[in-house]
This record gives sequence, structure tokens and C-alpha cells, in this order.
Amino acid sequence: MSRFIPLSIPNFEGNEKKYVDDALEQGWVSTGGAYITKFEERMAEFLHTDHVAACQSGTSALHLSLVEAGVRPGDVVLVPPLTFIAAVNPVKYQFATPVFIDCDDSFCMDPNKLRRFCEEECKLKKDTLFYRGQTVRAVVVVHVFGNMVDMVSVMEVAGKYHLKVIEDATEALGTHYTEGMYAGKYAGTIGDFGAFSFNGNKIITTGGGGAVTANKGKAVDHIRYLSTQAKDDPHDYIHNEIGYNYRMTNFQAALGVAQMEELPEFIRRKNSNYDLYMKLFEGFEMGKLVSFREGTASNKWFYSLEINKDKIKASMREIIDALEKRGVQTRAIWGLINEQIPYRGEIAYKLEKAPYYAARILNFPSTTQITEDEIKYVAEQIKEALRTFAI
Ligand SMILES: *Cc1c(COP(=O)(O)O)cnc(C)c1O
Repeated sequence: MSRFIPLSIPNFEGNEKKYVDDALEQGWVSTGGAYITKFEERMAEFLHTDHVAACQSGTSALHLSLVEAGVRPGDVVLVPPLTFIAAVNPVKYQFATPVFIDCDDSFCMDPNKLRRFCEEECKLKKDTLFYRGQTVRAVVVVHVFGNMVDMVSVMEVAGKYHLKVIEDATEALGTHYTEGMYAGKYAGTIGDFGAFSFNGNKIITTGGGGAVTANKGKAVDHIRYLSTQAKDDPHDYIHNEIGYNYRMTNFQAALGVAQMEELPEFIRRKNSNYDLYMKLFEGFEMGKLVSFREGTASNKWFYSLEINKDKIKASMREIIDALEKRGVQTRAIWGLINEQIPYRGEIAYKLEKAPYYAARILNFPSTTQITEDEIKYVAEQIKEALRTFAI
């Protein structure tokens, strides 16, 4: 079969080439140039926030957020086990200790488990929470696949226990609340810090890139300063802090400005494609299309099918291979981070749902260029392939 439908590929239907050519012609290709500022402005407008710092990757955005949040060696940072490992690695860059907190049915951190951990395992002394004598400084929550974390509950717990909240919104650019106390608020703009990624597989891409928002403008300015080697003086090379080479380049930003023009259309397509999949999987007994949180509008970046293991005798690997042969690219959700070699010694607090979903979730094509005909083909192939594994 010659047909091949990819999981998620970049879409350059707009002004990408024009703006990148322009940056090249002007000779501004590195960490200075007008496209960087323009990109920051476009992001800020879109997110209804005043402050955005563009940087080199989602990972560096998360690292700078932790630095700015004051995470120091020996601190504890509460993190999710079921996500991409880049959400957690920056905790280690700061020589801090991650503690893994379980997810709920949205695959995002379960605020009730977070609360229970703080309540039952930690001690609050004045304004500081301690776990086994170490300061619990922050919590990193990930808006998995574009689904909003239950931020109402997370912010309540974090407020009570004086934790800084870092939102990993790398998969959730555009996801926002439509109801409740955060109506109109975007993922990444509710906690103390929000990190975004523009890697090739994300909803918009700059090749590689990221951005940080924060609830305090000063914090974003300081992050921008840290990302450009903490240079205090335009001429004399004065550096009063340890900086990083984490700034976005003008080349990347040129691509980003073009992608921001298309973002609303990408979100619209992701949503209408999801609706079509929902119709096609209706009543399917071997797998259920996973929904997004009520009271929010999601960017629907990635779609998930929860495989019914009572009806299928096959590993995820076998399912993915069978679909590859049928020309449909799929993938499993991630391996649990607490089970990866560098993290095996860390505390994982009462994990139940994370291992459950790790064994059952299949992601399938959600690319913005996919046609209606291709979506029907994908759904048909998934159903047929799973039925060959019926118990
Ligand atoms: C993509 C991603 C990152 C990292 O972003 P990069 O730009 O690739 O560094 C971090 N966390 C999550 C959840 C991601 O999906």
C-alpha cells in the first residue's frame, strides 16, 4: 500500500518563505532583529497577556521559568509522570528533586492527589512547605495534548501551600477557558509562569523555539535578560549574573510570525477534524475517543484513542506496527518518566492512572493538512486493525 498518513507534520501554507527570505536578505539571522520583537508581540496579543519572552526551545523556556521561580539545588518540585520528559529534565538541571504526582482522566496532573500529597506527606511551616526536610518550591503542570489542566483546583492548592506554578503549555497554545473564574484565560497565563514550544511537531513551529509568559512583567524581562547571557551593558561586557544562550533567533522568529498568522485556522481545522473522528468512532467497542475538559476550548493538538484492553489481545507495539503497514502513522503515549533510568530513584506518589493510561492510549493522525477522505481512511484502518486483534 503506497498510502502514508503522517501523525503530525508542519504546515507552511502562509508567509513563511517570504518572511524568512526577508530576514536572510536583511542579514539578521541570529539573536537580534525585528522579527523576534514582532513575534513576542503577536504571542502576547494572542494570549491576552502583556509579556512574552521568545527563546530557543520549550525546554529552555521551562528551565528559565524554574530559575526565575527560585528553584535551587535540594528543592523539591512536583511533576507529572505521564508526559514528555522535557517537562521534568529542567528540574534536574537545577539539581532539584522531582516528586511524581499522578494524573486524572485528562492525563493532566490530578489536583486532588496534589492536595493529598501536600496535606499528608508534607509540613507547612509559616509560608514554606517541606517534604522530608526539603523545601517544596514549585509544581510543574502539563496541559497534555492541548487539554487544559484543572487550573482552578491546582491554583487553589498551590495558593494554600505557597507553591510556584509553572504551566507547561508547550502542547496547548490557544487552549483557553470559556467558563468559570478563568473564562477567557489561556493555558500558560494562569500560573506564575507559562512555557510554550514551537518544535516541529507542535501546533505552530519555528523549527525549534519556545516562549515564556509570567504573571509579573518584571519576571519576563529578567528571563529575557538571562536568555541573552545576562549582558548588562551594550558595550563593555558587564555581566552581573550567570546567563544562558537561550534566545530565539530572528530566523526562527520570522517563521514564527508567519505561523502566528495561521494559528487560528490551524486550531479551527484541528477542531473540525476531531469532530469528524468523533462521529467515525461513535459506538466503536474497542476504543474510545478521549474528550477534552468541559468549560474550555482546546486547540485539540493531539487526538487519543483509549484502547479497550478487555477486548484486544495485542501490545501497543503490535497495534502501531499493524497500522504502519496500513499506511497510518500512530504512536503510544509516553513511557512513564519515573521509570526512565535517570529517575528510578525518585519518589512517585501513589500512581494509578498514569500507568493505566500509559498502557492504553494510541495517538493517531491530527495533522492540519489531512483531508476528510484521509480521516475516514484512518478511522477505518484503526477499526479494522484492532478487530484483527479481537479476543
Ligand atoms: C515538546 C514538549 C516540550 C519541549 O519542547 P521543545 O521545544 O522540544 O524543547 C516540553 N514539554 C512537553 C509536554 C512537550 O510536549
